[in-house]
Amino acid sequence: MPGRTIDLHTHSLASDGSDRPAALVRKAAAAGLAAVALTDHDSLDGLAAAAAEAELSGIEVIPGIEIAVRDDFGELHLVGLWMPEPSPRMRQALAEFKENRARRNQAMLEALARLGLPLRMEDVRREGGVSIFGRPHLALAMRRRGYVTTRREAFDRYLGWGEKAYVPRELLSAEEGIGLLKGEGATVILAHPCLYPFMTPPRLEATLSRFSAAGLDAVEAYHSSHDAAGTRLCVELAARHSLLLSGGSDYHGLHKEGIVLGRGRGNLRIPYSLLEKLRERRREAGLWV
Ligand code: AMP
Ligand code: ZN
Ligand code: FE
Ligand code: FE
Repeated sequence: MPGRTIDLHTHSLASDGSDRPAALVRKAAAAGLAAVALTDHDSLDGLAAAAAEAELSGIEVIPGIEIAVRDDFGELHLVGLWMPEPSPRMRQALAEFKENRARRNQAMLEALARLGLPLRMEDVRREGGVSIFGRPHLALAMRRRGYVTTRREAFDRYLGWGEKAYVPRELLSAEEGIGLLKGEGATVILAHPCLYPFMTPPRLEATLSRFSAAGLDAVEAYHSSHDAAGTRLCVELAARHSLLLSGGSDYHGLHKEGIVLGRGRGNLRIPYSLLEKLRERRREAGLWV
Protein backbone atom coordinates (compact mmCIF):
# COMPACT_ATOMS: atom_id res chain seq x y z
CA MET A 1 0.00 0.00 0.00
CA PRO A 2 1.61 3.32 -0.98
CA GLY A 3 1.86 6.20 1.44
CA ARG A 4 2.13 4.16 4.61
CA THR A 5 4.40 5.69 7.25
CA ILE A 6 6.25 4.43 10.30
CA ASP A 7 8.04 5.58 13.48
CA LEU A 8 11.09 3.58 14.56
CA HIS A 9 12.14 5.54 17.68
CA THR A 10 9.80 6.07 20.66
CA HIS A 11 9.91 6.04 24.47
CA SER A 12 7.35 4.89 27.03
CA LEU A 13 7.05 4.77 30.81
CA ALA A 14 9.58 1.91 30.71
CA SER A 15 12.14 4.73 30.44
CA ASP A 16 11.49 8.45 30.26
CA GLY A 17 8.35 8.70 28.15
CA SER A 18 4.96 9.41 29.71
CA ASP A 19 2.76 6.82 27.94
CA ARG A 20 2.26 3.25 29.01
CA PRO A 21 3.67 0.97 26.28
CA ALA A 22 0.22 -0.29 25.28
CA ALA A 23 -1.16 3.25 25.10
CA LEU A 24 1.74 4.30 22.90
CA VAL A 25 1.00 1.43 20.49
CA ARG A 26 -2.71 2.34 20.43
CA LYS A 27 -1.82 5.96 19.68
CA ALA A 28 0.46 4.88 16.85
CA ALA A 29 -2.33 2.77 15.35
CA ALA A 30 -4.85 5.60 15.79
CA ALA A 31 -2.41 7.97 14.06
CA GLY A 32 -2.52 5.65 11.06
CA LEU A 33 1.09 4.46 11.30
CA ALA A 34 1.81 1.09 9.70
CA ALA A 35 4.59 0.23 12.17
CA VAL A 36 6.12 1.56 15.35
CA ALA A 37 9.25 0.55 17.28
CA LEU A 38 9.39 0.91 21.05
CA THR A 39 12.98 1.88 21.90
CA ASP A 40 13.17 2.70 25.59
CA HIS A 41 16.52 3.73 27.09
CA ASP A 42 18.38 0.76 28.62
CA SER A 43 15.19 -1.24 29.08
CA LEU A 44 13.20 -4.03 27.44
CA ASP A 45 10.50 -3.87 30.10
CA GLY A 46 7.84 -2.29 27.88
CA LEU A 47 8.15 -4.76 25.04
CA ALA A 48 5.80 -7.51 26.22
CA ALA A 49 2.91 -5.10 26.77
CA ALA A 50 3.61 -3.41 23.43
CA ALA A 51 3.60 -6.74 21.60
CA ALA A 52 0.33 -7.78 23.23
CA GLU A 53 -1.28 -4.51 22.17
CA ALA A 54 0.06 -4.91 18.61
CA GLU A 55 -2.15 -7.97 18.19
CA LEU A 56 -5.23 -6.01 19.25
CA SER A 57 -4.49 -2.78 17.38
CA GLY A 58 -3.41 -4.33 14.09
CA ILE A 59 -0.16 -2.40 13.85
CA GLU A 60 3.31 -3.84 13.47
CA VAL A 61 5.43 -3.32 16.57
CA ILE A 62 9.19 -3.79 16.35
CA PRO A 63 10.80 -4.52 19.73
CA GLY A 64 13.73 -2.19 20.30
CA ILE A 65 16.02 -0.43 22.73
CA GLU A 66 18.18 2.70 22.82
CA ILE A 67 21.56 2.65 24.56
CA ALA A 68 24.18 5.33 25.06
CA VAL A 69 27.86 4.77 24.30
CA ARG A 70 30.96 6.90 24.64
CA ASP A 71 32.99 7.85 21.62
CA ASP A 72 35.86 10.19 20.77
CA PHE A 73 33.90 13.43 21.08
CA GLY A 74 31.16 12.52 23.52
CA GLU A 75 28.06 10.41 24.10
CA LEU A 76 26.32 8.82 21.13
CA HIS A 77 23.10 6.82 21.02
CA LEU A 78 22.44 3.50 19.33
CA VAL A 79 19.02 2.08 18.58
CA GLY A 80 18.70 -1.71 18.38
CA LEU A 81 15.68 -3.11 16.55
CA TRP A 82 14.32 -6.66 16.62
CA MET A 83 15.53 -7.19 20.15
CA PRO A 84 14.80 -10.76 21.27
CA GLU A 85 14.32 -12.09 24.78
CA PRO A 86 17.58 -11.00 26.40
CA SER A 87 20.55 -13.36 26.43
CA PRO A 88 22.43 -13.81 29.74
CA ARG A 89 24.98 -11.30 28.48
CA MET A 90 22.28 -8.75 27.70
CA ARG A 91 20.61 -9.32 31.08
CA GLN A 92 23.93 -8.65 32.75
CA ALA A 93 24.46 -5.48 30.70
CA LEU A 94 20.96 -4.20 31.52
CA ALA A 95 21.56 -4.85 35.23
CA GLU A 96 24.82 -2.89 35.03
CA PHE A 97 23.14 0.02 33.22
CA LYS A 98 20.58 0.13 36.01
CA GLU A 99 23.24 0.06 38.75
CA ASN A 100 25.33 2.73 37.02
CA ARG A 101 22.25 4.90 36.74
CA ALA A 102 21.32 4.38 40.40
CA ARG A 103 24.83 5.39 41.51
CA ARG A 104 24.83 8.38 39.25
CA ASN A 105 21.34 9.52 40.26
CA GLN A 106 22.43 9.31 43.90
CA ALA A 107 25.52 11.43 43.14
CA MET A 108 23.38 14.01 41.34
CA LEU A 109 20.96 14.16 44.27
CA GLU A 110 23.94 14.78 46.57
CA ALA A 111 25.19 17.54 44.28
CA LEU A 112 21.73 19.15 44.25
CA ALA A 113 21.55 18.92 48.05
CA ARG A 114 24.90 20.73 48.28
CA LEU A 115 23.39 23.46 46.12
CA GLY A 116 20.52 23.79 48.59
CA LEU A 117 18.05 21.84 46.43
CA PRO A 118 17.38 18.64 48.38
CA LEU A 119 15.30 15.87 46.80
CA ARG A 120 14.78 12.26 47.76
CA MET A 121 15.13 9.33 45.39
CA GLU A 122 11.49 8.69 46.20
CA ASP A 123 10.56 12.06 44.66
CA VAL A 124 12.41 11.08 41.50
CA ARG A 125 10.80 7.65 41.29
CA ARG A 126 7.38 9.23 41.47
CA GLU A 127 8.05 10.93 38.12
CA GLY A 128 8.50 7.76 36.16
CA GLY A 129 7.34 4.31 35.43
CA VAL A 130 8.94 1.07 36.20
CA SER A 131 12.53 0.55 35.25
CA ILE A 132 14.84 3.32 34.27
CA PHE A 133 15.37 6.66 35.95
CA GLY A 134 17.57 9.46 34.72
CA ARG A 135 18.01 13.15 34.34
CA PRO A 136 14.55 13.72 32.79
CA HIS A 137 12.97 12.35 35.98
CA LEU A 138 15.23 14.50 38.15
CA ALA A 139 14.18 17.50 36.09
CA LEU A 140 10.50 16.70 36.60
CA ALA A 141 11.01 16.25 40.35
CA MET A 142 12.85 19.58 40.53
CA ARG A 143 10.01 21.29 38.74
CA ARG A 144 7.39 19.72 41.01
CA ARG A 145 9.37 20.95 44.01
CA GLY A 146 9.47 24.46 42.53
CA TYR A 147 13.26 24.56 42.19
CA VAL A 148 12.85 25.37 38.50
CA THR A 149 9.89 26.46 36.43
CA THR A 150 10.63 24.29 33.40
CA ARG A 151 12.33 21.00 32.64
CA ARG A 152 14.55 22.95 30.29
CA GLU A 153 15.71 25.23 33.10
CA ALA A 154 16.66 22.16 35.16
CA PHE A 155 18.95 21.01 32.35
CA ASP A 156 20.30 24.46 31.49
CA ARG A 157 21.25 25.31 35.07
CA TYR A 158 21.91 22.00 36.79
CA LEU A 159 21.64 18.72 34.89
CA GLY A 160 23.00 19.45 31.42
CA TRP A 161 26.48 18.35 30.43
CA GLY A 162 29.03 20.24 32.56
CA GLU A 163 26.39 22.07 34.63
CA LYS A 164 26.45 22.36 38.44
CA ALA A 165 24.83 19.03 39.35
CA TYR A 166 25.93 17.06 36.30
CA VAL A 167 27.56 13.72 36.95
CA PRO A 168 28.77 11.63 34.01
CA ARG A 169 27.49 8.10 33.59
CA GLU A 170 29.74 5.11 32.95
CA LEU A 171 29.16 4.05 29.37
CA LEU A 172 30.24 1.26 27.04
CA SER A 173 32.54 2.15 24.21
CA ALA A 174 30.83 2.42 20.83
CA GLU A 175 32.35 -0.87 19.68
CA GLU A 176 31.20 -2.63 22.86
CA GLY A 177 27.70 -1.22 22.45
CA ILE A 178 27.43 -2.23 18.81
CA GLY A 179 28.80 -5.68 19.72
CA LEU A 180 26.30 -6.08 22.56
CA LEU A 181 23.33 -5.37 20.28
CA LYS A 182 24.70 -7.39 17.36
CA GLY A 183 25.22 -10.26 19.78
CA GLU A 184 21.45 -10.27 20.31
CA GLY A 185 20.89 -10.40 16.56
CA ALA A 186 19.50 -6.87 16.58
CA THR A 187 19.68 -4.40 13.72
CA VAL A 188 21.90 -1.58 14.95
CA ILE A 189 21.22 2.04 14.05
CA LEU A 190 23.20 5.20 14.84
CA ALA A 191 20.49 7.39 16.41
CA HIS A 192 20.05 11.09 15.55
CA PRO A 193 23.68 11.74 14.51
CA CYS A 194 23.02 15.40 13.73
CA LEU A 195 21.62 16.11 17.20
CA TYR A 196 25.10 16.52 18.67
CA PRO A 197 26.75 19.94 18.50
CA PHE A 198 30.14 18.24 18.14
CA MET A 199 29.12 16.19 15.11
CA THR A 200 30.63 17.90 12.08
CA PRO A 201 30.30 16.27 8.64
CA PRO A 202 33.92 14.99 8.64
CA ARG A 203 33.43 13.53 12.12
CA LEU A 204 30.22 11.82 11.03
CA GLU A 205 32.00 10.39 8.02
CA ALA A 206 34.79 9.01 10.22
CA THR A 207 32.28 7.70 12.78
CA LEU A 208 30.25 5.84 10.15
CA SER A 209 33.38 4.36 8.67
CA ARG A 210 34.49 2.95 12.03
CA PHE A 211 31.01 1.91 13.14
CA SER A 212 30.18 0.08 9.94
CA ALA A 213 33.37 -1.94 10.40
CA ALA A 214 32.03 -2.81 13.88
CA GLY A 215 28.70 -3.98 12.46
CA LEU A 216 26.47 -0.90 12.28
CA ASP A 217 23.50 -1.52 9.95
CA ALA A 218 21.81 1.84 9.49
CA VAL A 219 21.70 5.57 10.16
CA GLU A 220 18.70 7.39 11.63
CA ALA A 221 18.50 10.01 8.90
CA TYR A 222 14.93 11.05 9.72
CA HIS A 223 14.50 12.46 13.22
CA SER A 224 12.54 15.27 14.89
CA SER A 225 15.73 17.24 15.54
CA HIS A 226 17.27 16.85 12.07
CA ASP A 227 16.88 19.67 9.61
CA ALA A 228 16.77 19.05 5.85
CA ALA A 229 20.54 19.52 5.51
CA GLY A 230 21.24 17.05 8.32
CA THR A 231 18.92 14.48 6.83
CA ARG A 232 20.50 14.90 3.41
CA LEU A 233 23.99 14.49 4.89
CA CYS A 234 22.93 11.27 6.64
CA VAL A 235 21.39 9.91 3.43
CA GLU A 236 24.53 10.67 1.42
CA LEU A 237 26.96 9.26 3.96
CA ALA A 238 24.84 6.15 4.53
CA ALA A 239 24.91 5.43 0.80
CA ARG A 240 28.68 5.88 0.74
CA HIS A 241 29.13 3.36 3.55
CA SER A 242 26.48 0.86 2.36
CA LEU A 243 24.36 1.59 5.42
CA LEU A 244 20.55 1.48 5.42
CA LEU A 245 18.33 4.31 6.63
CA SER A 246 16.02 4.54 9.59
CA GLY A 247 13.82 7.20 11.09
CA GLY A 248 11.78 8.02 14.13
CA SER A 249 10.24 10.86 16.08
CA ASP A 250 11.91 10.14 19.45
CA TYR A 251 8.44 10.62 20.92
CA HIS A 252 8.40 10.88 24.75
CA GLY A 253 4.72 11.78 25.23
CA LEU A 254 4.26 14.71 27.61
CA HIS A 255 7.92 14.55 28.57
CA LYS A 256 9.17 16.10 25.34
CA GLU A 257 6.89 18.87 24.29
CA GLY A 258 6.04 19.50 20.67
CA ILE A 259 6.91 16.04 19.37
CA VAL A 260 4.09 14.08 17.79
CA LEU A 261 4.23 10.33 17.31
CA GLY A 262 5.12 9.59 13.68
CA ARG A 263 5.29 13.27 12.76
CA GLY A 264 7.96 14.74 15.03
CA ARG A 265 7.74 18.51 14.95
CA GLY A 266 5.58 18.18 11.86
CA ASN A 267 8.56 17.53 9.63
CA LEU A 268 8.50 13.72 9.52
CA ARG A 269 6.94 11.33 7.08
CA ILE A 270 8.96 8.14 7.24
CA PRO A 271 8.06 5.74 4.45
CA TYR A 272 7.33 2.08 5.08
CA SER A 273 9.93 1.20 2.44
CA LEU A 274 12.69 1.90 4.99
CA LEU A 275 11.36 -0.85 7.21
CA GLU A 276 11.09 -3.20 4.22
CA LYS A 277 14.76 -2.62 3.39
CA LEU A 278 15.82 -3.23 6.99
CA ARG A 279 13.81 -6.46 6.96
CA GLU A 280 15.24 -7.53 3.63
CA ARG A 281 18.76 -7.21 4.96
CA ARG A 282 17.84 -9.26 8.02
CA ARG A 283 16.33 -12.00 5.85
CA GLU A 284 19.51 -12.08 3.78
CA ALA A 285 21.48 -12.54 7.00
CA GLY A 286 19.17 -15.32 8.15
CA LEU A 287 17.79 -13.27 11.07
CA TRP A 288 14.15 -13.31 12.22
CA VAL A 289 11.81 -10.55 11.19
P1 AMP B 1 20.19 10.39 31.05
O1 AMP B 1 19.89 9.18 30.21
O2 AMP B 1 19.76 10.24 32.45
O3 AMP B 1 21.61 10.87 30.89
O4 AMP B 1 19.26 11.54 30.44
C1 AMP B 1 19.37 11.81 29.06
C2 AMP B 1 18.03 12.29 28.52
O5 AMP B 1 17.78 13.58 29.04
C3 AMP B 1 18.08 12.44 27.02
O6 AMP B 1 17.62 11.28 26.37
C4 AMP B 1 17.16 13.61 26.77
O7 AMP B 1 15.83 13.15 26.61
C5 AMP B 1 17.23 14.42 28.04
N1 AMP B 1 18.14 15.59 27.90
C6 AMP B 1 19.48 15.57 27.83
N2 AMP B 1 19.99 16.83 27.73
C7 AMP B 1 18.91 17.66 27.75
C8 AMP B 1 18.76 19.07 27.71
N3 AMP B 1 19.83 19.89 27.61
N4 AMP B 1 17.51 19.58 27.74
C9 AMP B 1 16.44 18.74 27.84
N5 AMP B 1 16.52 17.40 27.89
C10 AMP B 1 17.73 16.86 27.85
ZN1 ZN C 1 14.56 9.66 26.36
FE1 FE D 1 18.69 9.44 22.02
FE1 FE E 1 15.45 8.44 22.19
